[in-house]
Amino acid sequence: MVEIRLRNSMTRKVERLEPIDPENVRMYVCGPTVYERAHLGNARPAVVFDVLFRLLRHVYGADHVTYVRNFTDVDDKINARAAETGRPISEITSETIAWYLEDMGALGVLEPTHMPRATAYIGAMIAMIGDLIAKGHAYEAEGHVLFSVGSYSNYGRLSGRSVDDMIAGARVEVAPWKRDPMDFVLWKPSDDSLPGWDSPWGRGRPGWHIECSAMAHELLGESFDIHGGGNDLLFPHHENEIAQSACAHPEGGFAKIWMHNEMLQVEGKKMSKSLGNFFTVRELLEQGIPGEVIRFVFLSTHYSKPMDWTQKKAEEAERTLLNWRTLIARLGVDAVADILRAPSINEEFFSALSDDLNSPGGRAILSNLASKVRAGDSHAAKELYGSMLLLGLDLNRDGILEILVAQIHDGKQRLNTQGEHSEKIGTLVAARGEAKKAKRFDEADRIRDALARAGVEVVDTPDGAIWTIGRGFDPAKLEGLL
Ligand SMILES: [Zn+2]
Repeated sequence: MVEIRLRNSMTRKVERLEPIDPENVRMYVCGPTVYERAHLGNARPAVVFDVLFRLLRHVYGADHVTYVRNFTDVDDKINARAAETGRPISEITSETIAWYLEDMGALGVLEPTHMPRATAYIGAMIAMIGDLIAKGHAYEAEGHVLFSVGSYSNYGRLSGRSVDDMIAGARVEVAPWKRDPMDFVLWKPSDDSLPGWDSPWGRGRPGWHIECSAMAHELLGESFDIHGGGNDLLFPHHENEIAQSACAHPEGGFAKIWMHNEMLQVEGKKMSKSLGNFFTVRELLEQGIPGEVIRFVFLSTHYSKPMDWTQKKAEEAERTLLNWRTLIARLGVDAVADILRAPSINEEFFSALSDDLNSPGGRAILSNLASKVRAGDSHAAKELYGSMLLLGLDLNRDGILEILVAQIHDGKQRLNTQGEHSEKIGTLVAARGEAKKAKRFDEADRIRDALARAGVEVVDTPDGAIWTIGRGFDPAKLEGLL
């Protein structure tokens, strides 16, 4: 069996993953609170843990991995958004969930096995809170139920902070119903204007932390293999999840390995609305940056390091993808057909990825493979293609490889999905070539720019000009160009 090693935030060591049940490897990742479009930083954990999901499926089998990523659809931020806009909460949350799935889908993120909505698990949350009260770890006060931090001696183990540090460093809410300022809310009362459910403590709604503990327990059991999320969740959210779950199910142990991805910056600065460098995944996609480019840029930095998103990196990633595609296509029709039929994964690349998801190391290995492909090595091409697939990057997206190979090797072949437009594009590219040959460079540039506006990229190669469907292909814009 292949060894996967992951850095455990709990032990602060890279550890070998030894699944509790290799027939059912289980992972929980905290999902979004759904009231607005995902920003670029929100996409990082989705991509990082998607790569881990793909790796686990590859090693243990697609049917032997259970991945749960929740939607927090009850939260005061959602309530505030509903009050601001006058829209029903259910409309806001359903719309945001659909957006999230659409945007993550564009980044090649697979849907997890389960995507529970917190509001579907209120009964499990109430049961767990009742259990915590019965075991002396929680208490009711003025319609609230609070977790008693002092009742759990391991509190602070994950974040490595003492309770005194936590009080000093965190914005701890001091409230008259708390016995200790560190105690956190499991349940809080709802007035008639807020969503609420009947409970033994009156009509109310859950605190955020209990949602994940209850959903993880319902879907993965008392103990499971991996719990992930952004490192902004490490404290207090994950510390509180552990306290709740360990006290409710003392035999279980909850998650064995805790993983945290670092945050994302933009052009070296923290992304923020006030700096004007804040953007959603959708905005980038609409600017014409393909989802695969965003994904490729993300994976060029190790998940445990801060990721700096820059325009330059996006441009480089896009060029690299096209370059690798062109190199493979130049191997010829038969070789490409064989590569697509039987891709394989490079061993060295696989070792890098299995070593705490070392995707930047993996990328360097892929660059070496690309050099071999340039020298005509079709086995290296199989490995480049197959290894990229494991990262969730399909070098034959939209049949691009087939488009390229058809142009390079046989202008008449029409294997591609954009076949109906190929002839027109081919004619325009040829007209540009004629214009260049006749030194009518203005005309050549005019055609190239018009093609670019329609989302067709023309690249000059030693084999002549080739084209590919690039940013935001819009066949309507080809009309009238001939
Ligand atoms: Zn969570």
